[in-house]
Amino acid sequence: MQYLSTRGQAPKLGFADVLLAGLARDGGLYAPAVLPDWRPEGIRALRGLAYPDSAIRVMEPFTAGAFDNTELAAMTADAYAGFRHAATAPLVQIDANLFALELFHGPTLAFKDFAMQWLARAMNRVLRTRGMRATILGATSGDTGAAAIEAFGGLSRADLYILYPQGRVSDVQRRQMTATGKPNVHALAIQGTFDDCQRIVKELFADLAFRDEMRLSGVNSINWARILAQIVYYFVGAVALGAPERQVSFAVPTGNFGDILAGYYAKRMGLPVERLIIATNVNDILARALSGGRYEPRTVKATQSPSMDIQVSSNFERLLFECSGQHPELIRALMADFSRDGSFTIPSPILERIRADFGAERIDEAGCVVEMARVYRESGLIIDPHSAIGVGAARRALAASPATPVIALGTAHPAKFPDPVGRATGVRPALPAHLADLMDREETIVVLPNNRNSVADYLRQTARALA
Ligand SMILES: *Cc1c(COP(=O)(O)O)cnc(C)c1O
Repeated sequence: MQYLSTRGQAPKLGFADVLLAGLARDGGLYAPAVLPDWRPEGIRALRGLAYPDSAIRVMEPFTAGAFDNTELAAMTADAYAGFRHAATAPLVQIDANLFALELFHGPTLAFKDFAMQWLARAMNRVLRTRGMRATILGATSGDTGAAAIEAFGGLSRADLYILYPQGRVSDVQRRQMTATGKPNVHALAIQGTFDDCQRIVKELFADLAFRDEMRLSGVNSINWARILAQIVYYFVGAVALGAPERQVSFAVPTGNFGDILAGYYAKRMGLPVERLIIATNVNDILARALSGGRYEPRTVKATQSPSMDIQVSSNFERLLFECSGQHPELIRALMADFSRDGSFTIPSPILERIRADFGAERIDEAGCVVEMARVYRESGLIIDPHSAIGVGAARRALAASPATPVIALGTAHPAKFPDPVGRATGVRPALPAHLADLMDREETIVVLPNNRNSVADYLRQTARALA
């Protein structure tokens, strides 16, 4: 399979190179040139399969040429072996026609493990085959960093650096990054905000000489492999509810637009998805863009669902690319507007196409609390604030279209956010057994000033990819 940059000025690449590149050299994101077309028989044949077996079938056409079937099967089985639920992604019913797909049974308790556990193994395998090392750089507001550090810790071919804003991640999230004891993974506390971390990462990627010198690679959801691994659970969830015979909708707690974009690709591949509902907190740029047609960031507000406190959703560029009929000139023009004016208008034919597949619901802070309390009261389930935003959005979608079942994605385990969950339900969820001693483990804290040179110097001194 070949991949194209959304901005059309970087070379077409195969899967292995896209995996290592992360961001395209022209600043665009890689997207598949053509999508596999799933027939109803193929979807039906997923019924009753174990999660890794479904994953192999969904991913195989995308990775063809990079891995043979035996490699793909071994790597995929291994990636999901560490999940602590026999079903990997169990589907639970919450209300009439309302379901939650629990995506938080992986090692770091958020859905990010689904993609990161697979991506780390895939990257290490490509690097080993090529006899190379890589330096992987990413920014996190908490969950991505924890998932990446867990997935890459101890791998032989990659050194991982994760920038997080000092003092702005939860204790659980910080300790998941700093108390690993693995020498190839580095959590760097930047004296700034998440936006500063992300800016430093982007600047270092844009410095092509540094990028080549360090063999930089990325694991944020700009990396296509993240999206790919997430397409799988849309198939698994829909099949559990009767696809291809029955349509379903999905409500997805959204920040950087990676997770819901995977649902869009699943729909384009033939999965019968009626609506994709973008669930946002008060940082509602995507809901505003859908209703008014203007993509215009505002100041980020801190909420109970911090992993969605994002204003610039990188993956929206991939959706614009697909809905424009893969038109890189148009994407370049929109992105030029965005860097000049800080906003852009979505051309109306593209907006109409987006509206045909997507809805958007904004759940405010009070609505999030009401939903956590209601689900606990009515079904005894404790859900985290991010998942609650998905469930709240799903209820609104059901009110408009009661006949189609809605699956809300459960994106994090409640024990990751014990304070807001405890306030809403009166129950303070405990960490699962494998993390019970997290608060006693020894941390290695590295603090760096808020500028790219201090990060570049730190990488040069410690990374092994230079040789
Ligand atoms: C990352 C994250 C999200 C947002 O996902 P995107 O792919 O960035 O839209 C939602 N909930 C949780 C718990 C997360 O960690």
